[in-house]
Amino acid sequence: MKLSELKLTNPYLSLPQECHDPVKPTPLKGPFLIHVNEPMAEELGIDREELHTERFVEFVNGSWHPEGSEPFAMCYAGHQFGHYVPQLGDGRAVNIGTLKGWHLQLKGAGVTKYSRSGDGRAVLRSSLREYLMSEAMHGLHIETTRALAIIGSSHSVYRQEWEKGAIVLRLSPSWVRFGTFEYFAHKKRLDELEQLIEYAIAESYPHLLGKSDRYLRFFEEVVERTAKLIAKWQAVGFNHGVMNTDNMSIAGLTIDYGPYAFLDVYDHNNICNHTDAYGRYSFGNQPDVAEWNLRALLRALSPLIETGAMEEVLSGYRRLYRSAYLEEMRQKLGLDGVEEGDMDLVKHLLGVLQALQVDYTLFFRTLSRYEGEHKPLLLLGLYHTPMREWLERYDERLKYNSCSTQERHTKMLKTNPKYVLKNYMLQEAIDAAQRGEYTLVDDLFQIAHDPFAEHPEFERWAGPTPEEHRNTKLSCSS
Ligand code: AMP
Ligand code: MG
Repeated sequence: MKLSELKLTNPYLSLPQECHDPVKPTPLKGPFLIHVNEPMAEELGIDREELHTERFVEFVNGSWHPEGSEPFAMCYAGHQFGHYVPQLGDGRAVNIGTLKGWHLQLKGAGVTKYSRSGDGRAVLRSSLREYLMSEAMHGLHIETTRALAIIGSSHSVYRQEWEKGAIVLRLSPSWVRFGTFEYFAHKKRLDELEQLIEYAIAESYPHLLGKSDRYLRFFEEVVERTAKLIAKWQAVGFNHGVMNTDNMSIAGLTIDYGPYAFLDVYDHNNICNHTDAYGRYSFGNQPDVAEWNLRALLRALSPLIETGAMEEVLSGYRRLYRSAYLEEMRQKLGLDGVEEGDMDLVKHLLGVLQALQVDYTLFFRTLSRYEGEHKPLLLLGLYHTPMREWLERYDERLKYNSCSTQERHTKMLKTNPKYVLKNYMLQEAIDAAQRGEYTLVDDLFQIAHDPFAEHPEFERWAGPTPEEHRNTKLSCSS
């Protein structure tokens, strides 16, 4: 399809006026295409030749709209670092319409009613981080929002210094957040709250439509999706960094990429967000914080659903999380079936990885070719004995496997990525992009898109993180 043939709809505008505000994007000066996600364009049905035209840049810059587009910003609230903020919303993301179930947003396209004191802009570095990481999560089979393209510009944006503005055209099957419900609940706008839950059910849980107990079932499924999502984050070693309730997707997606990090050496207490002094959003705290956030959602839904019934659902969160996590870890370890000591085996391993400062991703990739030879794994850590002891225990567990060693290797190589986008790799691409060189963006995109492939040309990124770049913290400023 040509861009001129696109027809967008705006289902969110069927909700009451309180939920959104019409706004026109404010285009950037001197826009140019940095990267386009061709597989995503194909999924949307946009012709390849259209992606490298002036019109496409105008589309991402918000200076040209497809037919049917009625741009607006969404309103929400949220608990930020545990404190309720009654008015947030899309302060710099403009929704431009829906195509094939994907809601399109221009992030960085200027001020909206919800910008507060912000400038409505996003800088190149944070835009590249969101663009690449959403693709990386998709490549890792983790539920996430996506991105179609990123443009740079000559537009100056001030953070701690002058930087260049960028826009990511991002898309999602849902942009509704826990904080969207909190907004209406705290304002006691119960009609709007009810319309929002009906909307969210139709959008993300359509199998519940028409069921008399659909509200409670909705909460149950949000709890379940959240538990499973966090289990995937913990298994792959992803630290989100800002799990405020406005950054929690009602559809169970990874949403709003800020100062996130993939673990370098394994550190249960890793903090990636510079402003997170007490580690509220540390890696190891993510499962608990997700539960805290679900409780905030429970409170917001309490005018619509019996609280006792929701409490009972929420009391099952930990069990759901633990079993989802254990299953993820069994896959990573290549364990068949279910044995009683499996969780202990995992905990033992994490203690060893932490003590020996082993690169988390590299460990599992190396283990994916394990044939009983300890040496390649012993070499990953600071010293040998704890790892040897764990491997002996692992050897015992493998005896209960019914699949062959070869089959185990094949499965593990599809479960344990060779590459994750560590912060030092992203920083390298950002530094080059600041100089106007974008080939590293494409290199990282290729890795992100298929992190399980060998990509011999990118081998230098498959090793442990260079020591000076390990477990660094990033600021929220973006
Ligand atoms: P975030 O930390 O990106 O999840 O953003 C938290 C809130 O601040 C959201 O309501 C954003 O829309 C808003 N926000 C962040 N940066 C800006 C900005 N530069 N201009 C306007 N609003 C912003
Ligand atoms: Mg956010």
